[in-house]
Amino acid sequence: MKGIVVLGNRMIKRKFHFYKEALLHMLFPSLCYGCEENSVDEEEMICINCKLSLPYTSFEKIRNNTVEKLFWGRVPVLFSSSTFYYGEKTSIQQIIHHIKYRDQKDLGIFMGKMMGDRLRILLKENNTDICVPMPLHPSKEKKRGYNQASLLCEGMQQTTGIPYNDLVLERRIATDTQTQKNRTARWNNVKDVFAINHPKRIQNKNIVLVDDVITTGASMEACAHILLENGAKTVAITSLAYTV
Ligand SMILES: [Zn+2]
Repeated sequence: MKGIVVLGNRMIKRKFHFYKEALLHMLFPSLCYGCEENSVDEEEMICINCKLSLPYTSFEKIRNNTVEKLFWGRVPVLFSSSTFYYGEKTSIQQIIHHIKYRDQKDLGIFMGKMMGDRLRILLKENNTDICVPMPLHPSKEKKRGYNQASLLCEGMQQTTGIPYNDLVLERRIATDTQTQKNRTARWNNVKDVFAINHPKRIQNKNIVLVDDVITTGASMEACAHILLENGAKTVAITSLAYTV
């Protein structure tokens, strides 16, 4: 008898929970992170309109693509790719803003899964061992509470099975904003910024560096150099978006 009462209570609680969730969704629907207009199921994150209009680059299928060319003559990278074009006032800009400045960690993982779906074959073909996120300076990461590039790696790991390591590469100097400097000044600004921890963990490894947006590529270039100098077998580069 007692068992039946407990079971009954559980069912009532479950039903109550279901109706509570449904009511909350009606009152406060989850809005698409791309357009902030259409409502979506919480786990969907992006509405069908935004999904269909996302500016995919398809760079993962194109060798000598624009991002690869960016690094020609600067650092030997195995391949480079960005999943989306980044543009002002686009859904991708909105999405990255939510990931970086509005504490939307789940959205970061979600977008990392999308990257992983696109990159799976390329990473497998090139025997990728680990992904390494572009590090934030510890003070910045503490303030934000997380590193958005690590969230992308987490999502990529979920779809590709390739692990990531966010301890081997460290940003020791908080750099100034990169936007107003020419390429030489930017390079001087970043070349001594990064350091390797636990070099044994990268020995003879095929590494993919991961960041949210590639603009000049200066930080990626510096990280690729330091990984190769410390024993990485190969370095490749990928990002969620590429600034056109
Ligand atoms: Zn939308």
